[in-house]
Amino acid sequence: MAKIAFVGLGNMGGPMAANLVKAGHEVSVFDLSAPAVEHAVEAGAHSAESASSAVDGAHFLITMLPAGIHVKSVLVTKDALLDKVAKDCLVIDSSTIDSETAKEMAKAAQERGIQFIDAPVSGGVGGAVAGTLAFMVGGTDEAFNKAKPILDCMGKNIFHAGGSGAGQVAKACNNMMLAVLMAGTSEALNMGINNGLDPKVLSEIMSKSSGNNWALQVYNPVPGVMDGVPASNDYEGGFMVDLMCKDLGLAMDNSQASRSPVPMGSAARGLFNLHQAKGNGGLDFSSIFRLYNSKSDSQG
Ligand code: NAD
Repeated sequence: MAKIAFVGLGNMGGPMAANLVKAGHEVSVFDLSAPAVEHAVEAGAHSAESASSAVDGAHFLITMLPAGIHVKSVLVTKDALLDKVAKDCLVIDSSTIDSETAKEMAKAAQERGIQFIDAPVSGGVGGAVAGTLAFMVGGTDEAFNKAKPILDCMGKNIFHAGGSGAGQVAKACNNMMLAVLMAGTSEALNMGINNGLDPKVLSEIMSKSSGNNWALQVYNPVPGVMDGVPASNDYEGGFMVDLMCKDLGLAMDNSQASRSPVPMGSAARGLFNLHQAKGNGGLDFSSIFRLYNSKSDSQG
């Protein structure tokens, strides 16, 4: 059993902390939101008075925060937890942030003799609740091996992507590809529908042909084609357009920093930003289908 400090108990962090409690760890939590802390306490975590007191005696510190600016504030500027954790405490940031800030945090930790890994996740709130997240880790072999048993309590697939920042790069690559696939799948299905095809039949054909992809297999964007997906629930639940736009912004930063051409990713970013600007930021990202097919809009 390890003593774990967990900061950031939102849609993802809350259930992740609960899974650590279920696995038998002693989890001390902090969040700026009182209701978020209450949920974690109901799941068996201990509420800390401050971020600083949460890390008292902790073997691991896990952060699950909105963006790089929050991670920096918690670790080095405002709360400065890197100055408060024990030297043998491993710091794991699972937030999706820019790889530059992740590398900066790893360097700041190293300067203080502390180990840090970036470990963003894929799998959404459902994966966080079920403990089936995929973790993409950037850091040393030693830090990865130390973190693995803890990450195993919250996820099913734990990958070591490379050195510091590599987890964030892997996450940006994956989500950019996901955006391209979802937009492309919506485009093709809409063209078929407008040419008189039944979207169920076309989906079946393409999923058994060379156009097959994850969106067609498990996340069809056309309402009524598949049960249990956001498209068949007015695009409620799932992975919000706002978060996809955030991740595509991070992908663009990566492309600029490495001078990698991303014309498909840029096009997908433009489509998702337009969809967001039309007031759809809170819908699941598969609602991009509505940008092509306004008849699928519940108001239309
Ligand atoms: P969220 O907004 O639900 O939760 C963030 C939490 O951080 C909030 O409870 C907030 O009060 C807390 N917080 C912010 N600043 C803080 C501070 N200084 N000290 C303490 N607590 C603070 O976000 P989420 O959906 O849980 O996402 C967290 C991260 O995971 C994000 O980086 C997101 O991009 C990533 N992510 C989300 C999903 C998803 O489906 N929601 C999937 C994969 C990755």
